[in-house]
Amino acid sequence: MFIYTCVQELQKIARKVSYNEYLCSIYWKTIKRYLLYIHRQCYICKKRSRLTVHHKTYNHFGYEIFHLEDLQVLCWFCHINERKKSKLYFSKKIGKEI
Ligand SMILES: [Zn+2]
Repeated sequence: MFIYTCVQELQKIARKVSYNEYLCSIYWKTIKRYLLYIHRQCYICKKRSRLTVHHKTYNHFGYEIFHLEDLQVLCWFCHINERKKSKLYFSKKIGKEI
């Protein structure tokens, strides 16, 4: 319950800061490091370098810790391609430019 309350507070903060500030938060960096440690290759092309974490959906924005299935490890090339596909849709969904 305590962790859930903390995450709720974090989500409130996440909604107030820019998307780039959110990506610089300790919360996001911790999730990112964890996923990059667990999944050491791009989900799409299997490349093992220049990896990052991609939001497949922003349905649980700020609550990703409980919905790791919303995230995907991709190389930068695949990440750019995926972002092109989803950028407009998710910008509208979370009310922020991504
Ligand atoms: Zn890739």
